[in-house]
Amino acid sequence: MKEYKAEGIIIRVRDYNEADRIVTLLTSEHGKIQAIAKGCRKQKSRKRGIIQQFTYGDFILYRGRSLDTITQCESRESFAVLREDLDRMAYGVYITELLDGFAIQGESHGELFYLTLVSLHLLSLADPILVTRAFEIRLMNLLGYRPHLETCVNCGGDLIGSRIAFSSRLGGSLCHLCAPGEPESSVCSRGTINMLKQLSSWDLKRLQVLKMSPDIRRETGEIMKNYIAQRLDKKIKSADFLQSLESMQNIG
Ligand SMILES: [Zn+2]
Repeated sequence: MKEYKAEGIIIRVRDYNEADRIVTLLTSEHGKIQAIAKGCRKQKSRKRGIIQQFTYGDFILYRGRSLDTITQCESRESFAVLREDLDRMAYGVYITELLDGFAIQGESHGELFYLTLVSLHLLSLADPILVTRAFEIRLMNLLGYRPHLETCVNCGGDLIGSRIAFSSRLGGSLCHLCAPGEPESSVCSRGTINMLKQLSSWDLKRLQVLKMSPDIRRETGEIMKNYIAQRLDKKIKSADFLQSLESMQNIG
């Protein structure tokens, strides 16, 4: 079958020439796909409003040797709010950049697709930092990099005290006996560890009731940034921009 259907989210768009765009789609059945949308930059093209970053819709594609072609598309949700609000857009771009970095082409991952869809939806209406942290930690969980937060990742011992060490390299929290042996670990509050547990396990739609103090915001942001950098070979371009945006918000 040369022609196939896919339910997908556009995670990346690049102009290809005067009329066309190359699109990276995250689909529920076929994983990540690269495809060309011909003619979509023309003024009169019906595809013009649909072939945009974040659009969730139904696509009909034609399988090509190196690149598939989008022959038809229908939008289910455009997530226009994410393109109109610069703050939310920055987080949306970051999420899609992470997906582009981690999701493997052609590998189907229904849960990852669902996580992305719900996260983009929540990003349009809830606290974008909270949603982004939840997305990051759940992405790690789904890819088999779940951080160990319940006991010491090194010896299994209990975590004692109000300040707890976290090692990105070892992948979790450390007890007071193991922490000195891991000089690159960072120290955070117990509240930050608890917040990471909630972001990781709570129903995504319930997350809106959580409140993060400025300290917990900063610490969860730093932990997740280092944790992801340790597990991804390439640099996420939008990560630094987000961090400066967040530090401005912490001051203000
Ligand atoms: Zn230990």
